[in-house]
Amino acid sequence: METIDLIALRNFTRETGQPTHPELLDARPIERVKKIEIDEEHITVTYNQDITRYYNANEIVQREWEYKYNDDPEMVAAIARVIELSRRHHKDMPENVACPPGCAECCSGYEPFVSRDDVRRIAAHLKMTPREVMDEYIVKRKSADGYHVGWVRKVTDDVTDQCVFLQEARPGRYYCGIYEARPGDCREFTPIGCADVNESIRHDRPIKIGAPFQPKHRKQRKR
Ligand code: SF4
Ligand code: SF4
Repeated sequence: METIDLIALRNFTRETGQPTHPELLDARPIERVKKIEIDEEHITVTYNQDITRYYNANEIVQREWEYKYNDDPEMVAAIARVIELSRRHHKDMPENVACPPGCAECCSGYEPFVSRDDVRRIAAHLKMTPREVMDEYIVKRKSADGYHVGWVRKVTDDVTDQCVFLQEARPGRYYCGIYEARPGDCREFTPIGCADVNESIRHDRPIKIGAPFQPKHRKQRKR
């Protein structure tokens, strides 16, 4: 792996791009990168949003880091790598790794396995008995180690169909109807690197979710 010598950057001030003492520089880490702009001479990184909350307004201030680069090819190449790293890091910011609101592709693509504890938690949440939950909402299949007792049913027998607990907030936008009690498998599912993300949904458009899941067919599947 190629090493980028970031120490070299410390030899230039934010204001003038001229060499200075490292202790005079703003050496705090650049986190939460919002924007990177490059022109022929400068790189400006906007980062670290500070919010001051007043009685009836919020003041939002972004910190900026400006670097005036010279035409030394090695330095320019190093800067290019730093920018590339910043961009990659930008994609890892918490707001970007959060699932876009209303995406539930994984709630159709996977069958979350449930443990006995999951079943007990879901039962308490739905005010049902664990047995009722097992009969109505779980496809029973014991795991070899006995930890998992089955997986959450889909709305039909088609395993690619939606999870029985999935609710629709509005067309194409979903939410988990038992969110507080959802199985451990669902809790541990991470969107980092998720290949199934619905890319048509914007992160900055929250959805208004509706009522939680209500058990309606409690008696129908009883054996
Ligand atoms: S229980 Fe909730 S989070 Fe888990 S698959 Fe079903 S709808 Fe999705
Ligand atoms: S982004 Fe991925 S993990 Fe998140 S809800 Fe969509 S499919 Fe599931």
